[in-house]
Amino acid sequence: MPSYSDFDRDLLNWYYINRRDLPWRKSSDPYFIWLSEIMLQQTRVDQAAPYFERFTAAFPTVHDLAKATQHEVLMQWEGLGYYTRARNMHRAAKIISTEYGGSMPDTYEEILALPGVGPYTAAAIASIAHGLPHAVVDGNVIRVLTRYAGMVGDVRTTSVKKAVNDLAGELLDRQNPGDYNQALMELGATVCTPRSPDCGSCPLQAGCVAFKTAMTGDIPYKSPKKQIPHHQIAVGIIVNEEGKLLIALRPDNAMLGGLWEFPGGKKRDGESLEETVRRELKEELNVDVEVTGFFMKLNHAYSHFRITLHAYFCRIVRGEPQPAASEQLAWVRRDQLAGYPFPKANRRITLALISEKHN
Ligand code: SF4
Repeated sequence: MPSYSDFDRDLLNWYYINRRDLPWRKSSDPYFIWLSEIMLQQTRVDQAAPYFERFTAAFPTVHDLAKATQHEVLMQWEGLGYYTRARNMHRAAKIISTEYGGSMPDTYEEILALPGVGPYTAAAIASIAHGLPHAVVDGNVIRVLTRYAGMVGDVRTTSVKKAVNDLAGELLDRQNPGDYNQALMELGATVCTPRSPDCGSCPLQAGCVAFKTAMTGDIPYKSPKKQIPHHQIAVGIIVNEEGKLLIALRPDNAMLGGLWEFPGGKKRDGESLEETVRRELKEELNVDVEVTGFFMKLNHAYSHFRITLHAYFCRIVRGEPQPAASEQLAWVRRDQLAGYPFPKANRRITLALISEKHN
């Protein structure tokens, strides 16, 4: 049986000596804590840190964020991925600005009610910004607790999830929940790492079941994920007589909504990539195009699928483009592409187009 008596004391002592110097730890502003927690939902600390600095320089307060346009917010977020996070933060900032006078709400329930805030993020903000006794359970915490307690079951199952949540609630240091939660997450991120935990440096080693039974490689156990699909996508770079390119704004409620892209879509079975481009541009823009040349191919991974994106230059031979599948269309010069927010794969095409221009 693991011993829990000195768990929080040992953990906090370790944290106060070993915590990393991260940009969001320099301030106790709840807005900064909220922003860091949202950025860290799907992004590693080292990747998020420069974005955090850039974002807070552009929008130093919740009011500044609320007043910005979605275009401005997405420009600052571009490259971080999972853009719903940015759109939701922007919506939440407007609510905080108008309904809470620009101060983050200070109850767990009100924080949880904000767009884009789930139980994990609400617990993190409530505990770190307001000292409220809510336990954070993220991937790092799950790894530390299942190893410490020797839970060998599949962490994707409801029963193991419940056991971890119950244990997290029991162990929470109610006097100091913010530091305690950060300490547990920090230990998981820096010492109790997925592949080779550094048990020799761990403050919890004396009570850890996985360490004592040499099971750190087996816990936490996760059943294999289903194979993720891989789609072939073909897009058209339509060039007009003035050399301008046609880009489309994705609808707000769609994946990557609010970002611009080159129109196109998924290749169907039995179709060539050039046929895909012609069909997709007919469906999305109501124009007939001639494919005039291949430009580039790239691979990109999203959370639930992968794509290979094939980009072709095209010329309109019939029709006037209509935004049948997008919010709006724009003809832009190559040197204007940097002023529009694009998802990562499309941004790689714009960068290649800009550098081709200079070659
Ligand atoms: Fe993780 Fe090792 Fe510490 Fe146990 S002793 S909590 S396995 S780092």
